[in-house]
Amino acid sequence: MAETLVENEQQPAQEYDYHPMWKSLGMNVEDHDMLLGAVGQMYGDMFLTQSNRPKATSYLDFVASNIHSGRIREMLDKKESGEATKIVGSFCLYVPEEVVTAAGGIAVSLCSGADWATDKVEEHLPRNTCPLIKSFTGFKLGHVCPYIESSDLVVGENTCDGKKKAYEYFSTLANMYIVDIPNVHNDATVEVWKGEVKKLAHKIEEFCGQPITAESLAEAIRIANDKRRALQRLSATRAADPAPISGLDSLLTVQAALMDDPVRLTGAVNDMAAECEARVAVGEGVVPKGTKRILYTGTPMAVPNWKFFNIIEKAGGIVVGEESCTGSRYYRDLVDESGTTVDQMLDAIAERYFKISCAVFTPNDQRMADIVNMARDLHADGIIDCSLQFCTLYETEAFTVEKAAEEAGIPFMHVTTDYANEDAGQLTTRVEAFLETI
Ligand code: SF4
Ligand code: SF4
Repeated sequence: MAETLVENEQQPAQEYDYHPMWKSLGMNVEDHDMLLGAVGQMYGDMFLTQSNRPKATSYLDFVASNIHSGRIREMLDKKESGEATKIVGSFCLYVPEEVVTAAGGIAVSLCSGADWATDKVEEHLPRNTCPLIKSFTGFKLGHVCPYIESSDLVVGENTCDGKKKAYEYFSTLANMYIVDIPNVHNDATVEVWKGEVKKLAHKIEEFCGQPITAESLAEAIRIANDKRRALQRLSATRAADPAPISGLDSLLTVQAALMDDPVRLTGAVNDMAAECEARVAVGEGVVPKGTKRILYTGTPMAVPNWKFFNIIEKAGGIVVGEESCTGSRYYRDLVDESGTTVDQMLDAIAERYFKISCAVFTPNDQRMADIVNMARDLHADGIIDCSLQFCTLYETEAFTVEKAAEEAGIPFMHVTTDYANEDAGQLTTRVEAFLETI
């Protein structure tokens, strides 16, 4: 049976049959078994072949083994028992999880990192749409994502053109609410954004049937900030040479943070950080000292899109940081915890989220400064910037990133890729050549 992605010591593959649960969600269980089988194989090949992983990364194997099974059961059980009100899915870091948590909901990320039902997708969206958008649409059309199927509400956002137009179709398939995100950072637009966050909070509390109170919102802010603090702590250890943890495991940690129970995850990430700090203290690394260190920048890498990190690290490099939404943009900034009223706290949430330097913003000078600062702080030998195919935003901004890297004297390479494996050989050759030059 394909209930789990991987077996591991901490969490042996469970005997529990999740097929009835998936069926009850309206999923295509045969196709889903195929998907899990393929992802499980990939996980084994990429993650379990790494040497000298920190022991605490067994938590990541636990997450991977439960991501479509135990975690979904847990969320549905919470809802059935009344411990949680609703499950609210979203596609973008701009949707504040604190607002959902404060209304008793469970916030989950729906970003999708594998091709699925592409032929069906292309009956509704242009062929030259980025793989991430095609993926979540294909997962919905193919009924293979338990997160999409268990979401009572999906919150989309007006960020890139591809997503905002795709949501017009997606909203015919799922219950959606769209938040409007300004594309310029200034004093006027931050006020517009604060209004949007308040409208969202109102919608969520109405939908969840539970008011957002000062107490519940303060608690939700603390839970999310604790998660960010743990991720910051882990990230800081990666400035050491040798790096104590791989980029692949670090990427998966953030991907897990977007889907797992936040309190459990925070504990596990603190355990990973403590082990990495101990490794740094004695000079132990996941790779030898002197391994070429890469800062990844660019489009987010949604589960199970581990391809490019695997390529970089199998080619002999080590990714020491991610300037992306599946990286530092998720945890770098905290929400100010000094507010005492719901209004003040929602403003603080809006201000924190408005610092996320997505390429949808123009101009995006802050992102360039962030990239250079991260490269310096993490002692990166080079920057590899990556865009998903047909992502006009990140593809175009790559030229600005290259200029910023050049001015800072940091070697730079840009790649464009998708979710298929056809370009793996060519990417490996390019990465190997880049590593040799830095
Ligand atoms: S890259 Fe932009 S659109 Fe994508 S998740 Fe991040 S903030 Fe949202
Ligand atoms: S990768 Fe680019 S095109 Fe695709 S959803 Fe993200 S911002 Fe939009």
